[in-house]
Amino acid sequence: MSLETNDNTIFSAIEKENERQLGTLELIASENIVSNDVLEAMGSVMTNKYAEGYPGRRYYGGCEFVDIAESTAIDRLKKLFDAEYANVQPHSGASANTTVYYAQLNPGDKIMGMNLSHGGHLTHGSPVSISGKWFDVAAYGVNKEDQLIDYDEVEALAVKEKPKMIIAGASAYPRKINFSRFKQIADKIGAKLMVDMAHIAGLVAAGLHPSPVPHADFVTSTTHKTLRGPRGGFILTNDEGYSKAINKAVFPGLQGGPLMHIIAAKAVAFKEALQPAFKDYAQAVVDNASVLAQTLKEEGASLVSGGTDNHIVLVDVRPWKLTGKEAEKILEEVGITVNKNTIPFDPESPFVTSGIRTGTAALTTRGMRKKEMILIGQTIANVLKNSNDPSVKEHAKKTIQEICSAFPLYQRQALNV
Ligand code: PLP
Repeated sequence: MSLETNDNTIFSAIEKENERQLGTLELIASENIVSNDVLEAMGSVMTNKYAEGYPGRRYYGGCEFVDIAESTAIDRLKKLFDAEYANVQPHSGASANTTVYYAQLNPGDKIMGMNLSHGGHLTHGSPVSISGKWFDVAAYGVNKEDQLIDYDEVEALAVKEKPKMIIAGASAYPRKINFSRFKQIADKIGAKLMVDMAHIAGLVAAGLHPSPVPHADFVTSTTHKTLRGPRGGFILTNDEGYSKAINKAVFPGLQGGPLMHIIAAKAVAFKEALQPAFKDYAQAVVDNASVLAQTLKEEGASLVSGGTDNHIVLVDVRPWKLTGKEAEKILEEVGITVNKNTIPFDPESPFVTSGIRTGTAALTTRGMRKKEMILIGQTIANVLKNSNDPSVKEHAKKTIQEICSAFPLYQRQALNV
Protein backbone atom coordinates (compact mmCIF):
# COMPACT_ATOMS: atom_id res chain seq x y z
CA MET A 1 0.00 0.00 0.00
CA SER A 2 1.20 3.48 -0.67
CA LEU A 3 0.13 7.10 -0.43
CA GLU A 4 -1.11 6.81 -3.99
CA THR A 5 -3.70 4.20 -3.02
CA ASN A 6 -4.39 5.34 0.56
CA ASP A 7 -4.79 9.05 0.00
CA ASN A 8 -4.96 9.91 -3.64
CA THR A 9 -6.05 13.49 -3.00
CA ILE A 10 -2.74 14.34 -1.37
CA PHE A 11 -0.69 12.02 -3.59
CA SER A 12 -1.98 13.69 -6.72
CA ALA A 13 -1.55 17.20 -5.23
CA ILE A 14 2.12 16.33 -4.60
CA GLU A 15 2.48 14.88 -8.10
CA LYS A 16 0.95 17.99 -9.64
CA GLU A 17 3.19 20.26 -7.56
CA ASN A 18 6.17 18.23 -8.77
CA GLU A 19 5.01 18.70 -12.39
CA ARG A 20 4.49 22.42 -11.76
CA GLN A 21 8.01 22.79 -10.41
CA LEU A 22 9.37 20.80 -13.34
CA GLY A 23 7.44 22.65 -16.02
CA THR A 24 7.84 26.26 -14.86
CA LEU A 25 10.71 28.63 -14.15
CA GLU A 26 10.93 29.42 -10.43
CA LEU A 27 12.08 33.00 -10.09
CA ILE A 28 10.63 33.64 -6.63
CA ALA A 29 13.64 35.09 -4.81
CA SER A 30 12.89 33.36 -1.50
CA GLU A 31 12.67 29.85 -2.95
CA ASN A 32 15.16 27.17 -3.83
CA ILE A 33 15.30 23.43 -4.62
CA VAL A 34 16.70 21.13 -1.96
CA SER A 35 18.84 18.08 -2.64
CA ASN A 36 17.59 14.49 -2.53
CA ASP A 37 19.48 14.05 0.74
CA VAL A 38 17.68 16.98 2.39
CA LEU A 39 14.36 15.56 1.16
CA GLU A 40 15.25 12.13 2.55
CA ALA A 41 16.12 13.50 6.00
CA MET A 42 12.90 15.57 6.07
CA GLY A 43 10.77 12.56 5.21
CA SER A 44 12.36 10.41 7.93
CA VAL A 45 11.19 8.78 11.17
CA MET A 46 12.71 11.64 13.15
CA THR A 47 9.33 13.34 12.70
CA ASN A 48 7.96 10.88 15.30
CA LYS A 49 10.18 12.03 18.13
CA TYR A 50 9.43 14.48 20.94
CA ALA A 51 12.62 16.13 22.18
CA GLU A 52 11.78 19.21 24.24
CA GLY A 53 14.97 20.71 25.59
CA TYR A 54 18.43 20.60 24.05
CA PRO A 55 20.98 17.83 23.26
CA GLY A 56 21.94 16.06 26.51
CA ARG A 57 19.25 18.01 28.45
CA ARG A 58 15.90 16.72 27.20
CA TYR A 59 12.54 16.38 28.90
CA TYR A 60 11.88 13.07 27.08
CA GLY A 61 13.62 9.70 26.99
CA GLY A 62 14.91 8.04 23.83
CA CYS A 63 16.64 11.13 22.52
CA GLU A 64 20.12 9.69 21.91
CA PHE A 65 19.80 9.68 18.11
CA VAL A 66 17.96 12.95 17.65
CA ASP A 67 20.67 14.42 19.89
CA ILE A 68 23.22 13.39 17.26
CA ALA A 69 21.18 15.18 14.59
CA GLU A 70 20.80 18.40 16.58
CA SER A 71 24.39 18.52 17.88
CA THR A 72 25.66 17.92 14.34
CA ALA A 73 23.41 20.69 12.97
CA ILE A 74 24.67 23.10 15.65
CA ASP A 75 28.35 22.25 15.07
CA ARG A 76 28.08 22.55 11.29
CA LEU A 77 26.15 25.82 11.50
CA LYS A 78 28.70 27.36 13.87
CA LYS A 79 31.48 26.33 11.50
CA LEU A 80 29.63 27.62 8.43
CA PHE A 81 29.20 31.13 9.84
CA ASP A 82 32.08 31.20 12.30
CA ALA A 83 29.72 31.81 15.22
CA GLU A 84 30.13 30.87 18.89
CA TYR A 85 26.54 29.82 19.63
CA ALA A 86 23.70 28.52 17.47
CA ASN A 87 20.10 27.53 18.02
CA VAL A 88 18.68 25.42 15.18
CA GLN A 89 15.18 24.87 16.61
CA PRO A 90 13.18 27.87 15.29
CA HIS A 91 10.44 26.52 13.02
CA SER A 92 10.76 29.44 10.61
CA GLY A 93 12.34 32.82 9.99
CA ALA A 94 9.38 34.59 11.59
CA SER A 95 9.75 32.40 14.72
CA ALA A 96 13.48 33.15 14.89
CA ASN A 97 12.85 36.91 14.78
CA THR A 98 10.01 36.77 17.30
CA THR A 99 12.21 34.70 19.60
CA VAL A 100 14.92 37.38 19.66
CA TYR A 101 12.30 40.03 20.47
CA TYR A 102 10.86 37.86 23.21
CA ALA A 103 14.33 37.27 24.69
CA GLN A 104 15.37 40.92 24.70
CA LEU A 105 12.38 43.25 24.67
CA ASN A 106 9.18 44.05 26.53
CA PRO A 107 5.89 45.06 24.92
CA GLY A 108 5.93 48.81 24.32
CA ASP A 109 9.70 48.97 23.70
CA LYS A 110 10.86 50.73 20.57
CA ILE A 111 12.38 48.87 17.62
CA MET A 112 13.71 50.25 14.36
CA GLY A 113 13.51 48.13 11.21
CA MET A 114 13.38 48.64 7.48
CA ASN A 115 10.08 49.82 6.06
CA LEU A 116 8.19 46.87 4.51
CA SER A 117 7.44 48.82 1.33
CA HIS A 118 11.14 49.65 0.92
CA GLY A 119 12.21 46.00 1.18
CA GLY A 120 11.97 45.13 4.89
CA HIS A 121 10.14 42.07 6.25
CA LEU A 122 6.75 41.92 7.98
CA THR A 123 8.42 40.79 11.21
CA HIS A 124 10.62 43.90 11.33
CA GLY A 125 7.81 46.08 12.70
CA SER A 126 4.93 46.01 10.21
CA PRO A 127 1.61 46.94 11.87
CA VAL A 128 0.03 43.68 10.66
CA SER A 129 2.65 41.56 12.47
CA ILE A 130 3.08 40.95 16.19
CA SER A 131 6.32 42.97 15.88
CA GLY A 132 4.31 46.07 14.95
CA LYS A 133 1.50 45.39 17.41
CA TRP A 134 3.60 44.80 20.51
CA PHE A 135 6.39 47.29 19.86
CA ASP A 136 6.63 50.95 19.13
CA VAL A 137 8.15 51.11 15.65
CA ALA A 138 10.39 53.60 13.90
CA ALA A 139 11.02 52.57 10.29
CA TYR A 140 13.93 53.53 8.08
CA GLY A 141 13.91 53.26 4.32
CA VAL A 142 15.92 53.90 1.19
CA ASN A 143 16.78 57.11 -0.65
CA LYS A 144 14.37 58.31 -3.29
CA GLU A 145 17.23 59.06 -5.73
CA ASP A 146 19.28 55.86 -5.73
CA GLN A 147 16.99 53.50 -3.73
CA LEU A 148 19.88 52.57 -1.44
CA ILE A 149 19.86 52.58 2.38
CA ASP A 150 21.02 56.02 3.51
CA TYR A 151 23.14 55.19 6.57
CA ASP A 152 23.38 58.83 7.67
CA GLU A 153 19.59 58.98 7.69
CA VAL A 154 19.41 55.69 9.63
CA GLU A 155 21.81 57.20 12.16
CA ALA A 156 19.84 60.45 12.45
CA LEU A 157 16.60 58.49 12.95
CA ALA A 158 18.23 56.21 15.53
CA VAL A 159 19.55 59.20 17.49
CA LYS A 160 16.10 60.83 17.39
CA GLU A 161 14.03 57.72 18.18
CA LYS A 162 16.42 55.86 20.51
CA PRO A 163 15.12 52.34 19.78
CA LYS A 164 16.16 49.48 22.05
CA MET A 165 16.83 47.31 19.04
CA ILE A 166 17.81 48.02 15.44
CA ILE A 167 16.96 45.41 12.83
CA ALA A 168 19.01 45.16 9.65
CA GLY A 169 18.21 42.79 6.80
CA ALA A 170 15.58 42.69 4.09
CA SER A 171 13.30 40.66 1.85
CA ALA A 172 13.63 42.81 -1.24
CA TYR A 173 16.90 44.74 -1.25
CA PRO A 174 19.17 43.97 -4.22
CA ARG A 175 22.33 45.52 -2.79
CA LYS A 176 24.92 44.71 -0.12
CA ILE A 177 24.12 45.80 3.44
CA ASN A 178 26.79 47.45 5.57
CA PHE A 179 26.46 45.61 8.88
CA SER A 180 29.47 47.25 10.52
CA ARG A 181 27.87 50.67 9.91
CA PHE A 182 24.64 49.40 11.47
CA LYS A 183 26.62 48.25 14.52
CA GLN A 184 28.28 51.67 14.87
CA ILE A 185 24.84 53.28 14.82
CA ALA A 186 23.44 50.81 17.37
CA ASP A 187 26.45 51.31 19.66
CA LYS A 188 26.10 55.09 19.46
CA ILE A 189 22.65 54.93 21.06
CA GLY A 190 23.16 51.82 23.20
CA ALA A 191 20.77 49.70 21.11
CA LYS A 192 21.09 46.00 20.33
CA LEU A 193 21.60 45.01 16.69
CA MET A 194 19.71 42.11 15.19
CA VAL A 195 20.54 41.13 11.62
CA ASP A 196 18.03 39.03 9.71
CA MET A 197 20.13 37.50 6.92
CA ALA A 198 17.37 35.16 5.68
CA HIS A 199 17.69 36.08 2.00
CA ILE A 200 21.45 36.25 1.74
CA ALA A 201 22.50 33.45 4.14
CA GLY A 202 23.83 31.26 1.30
CA LEU A 203 25.83 34.17 -0.09
CA VAL A 204 27.25 34.94 3.37
CA ALA A 205 28.16 31.26 3.84
CA ALA A 206 30.02 31.37 0.53
CA GLY A 207 31.85 34.59 1.40
CA LEU A 208 30.02 36.58 -1.29
CA HIS A 209 28.33 39.00 1.11
CA PRO A 210 30.02 40.45 4.21
CA SER A 211 29.00 38.45 7.27
CA PRO A 212 26.87 40.08 9.96
CA VAL A 213 28.15 37.60 12.59
CA PRO A 214 31.17 39.66 13.78
CA HIS A 215 28.96 42.75 14.19
CA ALA A 216 25.45 41.83 15.29
CA ASP A 217 24.30 40.92 18.79
CA PHE A 218 21.91 38.44 17.17
CA VAL A 219 21.78 36.99 13.68
CA THR A 220 18.58 35.30 12.54
CA SER A 221 17.91 33.47 9.30
CA THR A 222 15.76 31.09 7.38
CA THR A 223 17.36 27.92 6.06
CA HIS A 224 15.40 27.59 2.81
CA LYS A 225 16.35 30.52 0.61
CA THR A 226 19.88 30.95 -0.83
CA LEU A 227 21.14 28.54 1.85
CA ARG A 228 19.12 25.76 0.13
CA GLY A 229 17.98 23.78 3.17
CA PRO A 230 14.57 22.64 4.42
CA ARG A 231 12.03 25.29 5.46
CA GLY A 232 13.10 26.55 8.88
CA GLY A 233 15.05 29.09 10.91
CA PHE A 234 18.05 29.55 13.20
CA ILE A 235 19.64 32.09 15.51
CA LEU A 236 23.35 32.84 15.99
CA THR A 237 25.20 34.90 18.58
CA ASN A 238 28.76 35.29 19.84
CA ASP A 239 27.70 36.16 23.40
CA GLU A 240 27.18 33.40 25.96
CA GLY A 241 24.62 35.40 27.93
CA TYR A 242 22.54 36.10 24.84
CA SER A 243 22.78 32.46 23.86
CA LYS A 244 21.30 31.35 27.19
CA ALA A 245 18.47 33.87 26.83
CA ILE A 246 17.81 32.72 23.25
CA ASN A 247 17.69 29.05 24.19
CA LYS A 248 15.14 29.79 26.91
CA ALA A 249 13.11 32.02 24.58
CA VAL A 250 12.92 29.29 21.89
CA PHE A 251 11.97 26.59 24.40
CA PRO A 252 9.99 26.89 26.61
CA GLY A 253 9.37 30.52 25.63
CA LEU A 254 7.78 30.21 22.22
CA GLN A 255 7.95 26.62 21.02
CA GLY A 256 7.34 23.14 22.33
CA GLY A 257 8.92 20.10 20.70
CA PRO A 258 11.53 20.79 18.01
CA LEU A 259 10.94 19.40 14.50
CA MET A 260 13.68 16.77 14.62
CA HIS A 261 13.26 15.63 10.99
CA ILE A 262 13.73 19.25 9.89
CA ILE A 263 16.72 19.70 12.18
CA ALA A 264 18.28 16.56 10.65
CA ALA A 265 17.65 18.02 7.20
CA LYS A 266 19.17 21.35 8.31
CA ALA A 267 22.31 19.43 9.33
CA VAL A 268 22.45 17.82 5.85
CA ALA A 269 22.05 21.21 4.15
CA PHE A 270 24.75 22.79 6.35
CA LYS A 271 27.16 19.99 5.35
CA GLU A 272 26.36 20.70 1.70
CA ALA A 273 26.96 24.43 2.23
CA LEU A 274 30.35 23.65 3.76
CA GLN A 275 31.55 21.95 0.54
CA PRO A 276 33.67 23.87 -1.99
CA ALA A 277 30.95 23.19 -4.61
CA PHE A 278 28.55 25.40 -2.65
CA LYS A 279 30.83 28.40 -3.19
CA ASP A 280 30.66 27.76 -6.95
CA TYR A 281 26.89 27.52 -6.69
CA ALA A 282 26.57 30.80 -4.76
CA GLN A 283 28.91 32.54 -7.20
CA ALA A 284 26.74 31.29 -10.06
CA VAL A 285 23.62 32.63 -8.27
CA VAL A 286 25.16 36.12 -8.10
CA ASP A 287 26.53 35.95 -11.66
CA ASN A 288 23.15 34.82 -12.96
CA ALA A 289 21.36 37.68 -11.19
CA SER A 290 23.82 40.13 -12.69
CA VAL A 291 23.24 38.75 -16.23
CA LEU A 292 19.46 38.76 -15.72
CA ALA A 293 19.60 42.38 -14.52
CA GLN A 294 21.79 43.46 -17.43
CA THR A 295 19.54 41.72 -19.96
CA LEU A 296 16.39 43.29 -18.51
CA LYS A 297 18.05 46.72 -18.59
CA GLU A 298 19.06 46.27 -22.21
CA GLU A 299 15.42 45.45 -22.91
CA GLY A 300 14.35 48.77 -21.36
CA ALA A 301 13.44 47.62 -17.84
CA SER A 302 13.69 49.97 -14.89
CA LEU A 303 15.44 48.21 -11.98
CA VAL A 304 15.21 49.29 -8.35
CA SER A 305 18.67 50.63 -7.39
CA GLY A 306 19.73 50.20 -11.03
CA GLY A 307 20.93 46.60 -10.65
CA THR A 308 21.94 43.96 -8.14
CA ASP A 309 24.82 42.77 -5.93
CA ASN A 310 23.04 39.62 -4.75
CA HIS A 311 20.44 37.12 -6.00
CA ILE A 312 17.57 39.62 -6.27
CA VAL A 313 16.48 41.70 -9.24
CA LEU A 314 13.61 44.04 -8.43
CA VAL A 315 11.83 45.33 -11.54
CA ASP A 316 9.69 48.47 -11.65
CA VAL A 317 7.07 47.53 -14.29
CA ARG A 318 5.49 50.98 -14.62
CA PRO A 319 7.44 51.85 -17.80
CA TRP A 320 5.58 48.95 -19.42
CA LYS A 321 2.23 50.38 -18.23
CA LEU A 322 1.59 47.42 -15.95
CA THR A 323 1.11 46.89 -12.21
CA GLY A 324 3.06 44.24 -10.31
CA LYS A 325 -0.13 42.22 -9.96
CA GLU A 326 -0.71 42.23 -13.72
CA ALA A 327 2.94 41.41 -14.49
CA GLU A 328 2.89 38.47 -12.06
CA LYS A 329 -0.20 37.04 -13.77
CA ILE A 330 1.09 37.54 -17.32
CA LEU A 331 4.36 35.80 -16.48
CA GLU A 332 2.53 32.96 -14.74
CA GLU A 333 0.54 32.38 -17.94
CA VAL A 334 3.75 31.64 -19.85
CA GLY A 335 5.33 29.50 -17.11
CA ILE A 336 7.47 32.00 -15.18
CA THR A 337 6.75 32.29 -11.44
CA VAL A 338 7.60 35.61 -9.76
CA ASN A 339 5.92 37.63 -7.03
CA LYS A 340 4.49 41.11 -7.23
CA ASN A 341 6.40 43.39 -4.89
CA THR A 342 6.19 46.97 -3.73
CA ILE A 343 8.97 49.22 -4.95
CA PRO A 344 10.25 52.08 -2.75
CA PHE A 345 7.71 54.96 -2.64
CA ASP A 346 5.19 52.75 -4.47
CA PRO A 347 2.00 54.61 -5.41
CA GLU A 348 0.07 51.32 -5.52
CA SER A 349 -1.23 49.26 -2.59
CA PRO A 350 0.76 46.20 -1.38
CA PHE A 351 -1.90 44.02 -3.03
CA VAL A 352 -1.40 45.65 -6.45
CA THR A 353 2.19 47.06 -6.34
CA SER A 354 4.34 48.53 -9.13
CA GLY A 355 7.04 45.89 -9.16
CA ILE A 356 7.99 42.26 -9.46
CA ARG A 357 10.72 40.58 -7.44
CA THR A 358 12.85 37.98 -9.16
CA GLY A 359 15.71 35.87 -7.81
CA THR A 360 18.11 33.34 -9.28
CA ALA A 361 18.70 30.83 -6.44
CA ALA A 362 16.34 28.10 -7.71
CA LEU A 363 17.17 28.33 -11.42
CA THR A 364 20.87 28.20 -10.59
CA THR A 365 20.32 25.00 -8.59
CA ARG A 366 18.63 23.57 -11.69
CA GLY A 367 21.90 24.18 -13.52
CA MET A 368 20.97 27.25 -15.58
CA ARG A 369 23.72 29.74 -16.37
CA LYS A 370 24.42 32.82 -18.53
CA LYS A 371 22.85 31.58 -21.79
CA GLU A 372 19.57 30.73 -20.07
CA MET A 373 19.54 33.98 -18.04
CA ILE A 374 19.80 36.02 -21.24
CA LEU A 375 17.00 34.05 -22.86
CA ILE A 376 14.81 34.29 -19.74
CA GLY A 377 15.44 38.04 -19.35
CA GLN A 378 14.56 38.64 -23.01
CA THR A 379 11.45 36.49 -22.68
CA ILE A 380 10.26 38.32 -19.54
CA ALA A 381 10.74 41.70 -21.19
CA ASN A 382 9.14 40.62 -24.45
CA VAL A 383 6.04 39.23 -22.76
CA LEU A 384 5.59 42.24 -20.49
CA LYS A 385 6.11 44.69 -23.36
CA ASN A 386 3.62 42.84 -25.59
CA SER A 387 1.14 41.54 -23.06
CA ASN A 388 -1.80 41.92 -25.46
CA ASP A 389 -0.19 39.89 -28.22
CA PRO A 390 -1.18 36.19 -27.98
CA SER A 391 1.51 35.13 -30.45
CA VAL A 392 4.25 36.57 -28.19
CA LYS A 393 2.81 34.61 -25.27
CA GLU A 394 2.67 31.39 -27.30
CA HIS A 395 6.26 31.80 -28.40
CA ALA A 396 7.34 32.53 -24.77
CA LYS A 397 5.53 29.41 -23.49
CA LYS A 398 7.41 27.29 -26.00
CA THR A 399 10.75 28.84 -25.05
CA ILE A 400 10.08 28.24 -21.33
CA GLN A 401 9.06 24.63 -21.96
CA GLU A 402 12.27 24.01 -23.90
CA ILE A 403 14.40 25.46 -21.10
CA CYS A 404 12.52 23.44 -18.46
CA SER A 405 12.94 20.19 -20.39
CA ALA A 406 16.68 20.79 -20.70
CA PHE A 407 17.03 21.15 -16.89
CA PRO A 408 15.01 18.39 -15.19
CA LEU A 409 14.61 18.33 -11.41
CA TYR A 410 15.82 15.66 -9.01
CA GLN A 411 17.81 13.79 -11.64
CA ARG A 412 20.94 15.87 -11.89
CA GLN A 413 23.97 14.93 -9.91
CA ALA A 414 24.59 18.65 -9.36
CA LEU A 415 21.76 18.73 -6.82
CA ASN A 416 23.68 16.52 -4.43
CA VAL A 417 26.67 18.78 -3.90
N1 PLP B 1 13.04 37.35 7.29
C1 PLP B 1 13.18 37.69 6.00
C2 PLP B 1 14.19 38.76 5.63
C3 PLP B 1 12.39 37.08 5.03
O1 PLP B 1 12.51 37.44 3.75
C4 PLP B 1 11.45 36.10 5.43
C5 PLP B 1 10.58 35.39 4.48
O2 PLP B 1 10.44 35.63 3.35
C6 PLP B 1 11.33 35.81 6.78
C7 PLP B 1 12.14 36.44 7.70
C8 PLP B 1 10.29 34.85 7.30
O3 PLP B 1 10.61 33.55 7.11
P1 PLP B 1 9.50 32.40 7.26
O4 PLP B 1 8.63 32.51 6.06
O5 PLP B 1 10.30 31.15 7.35
O6 PLP B 1 8.76 32.70 8.53
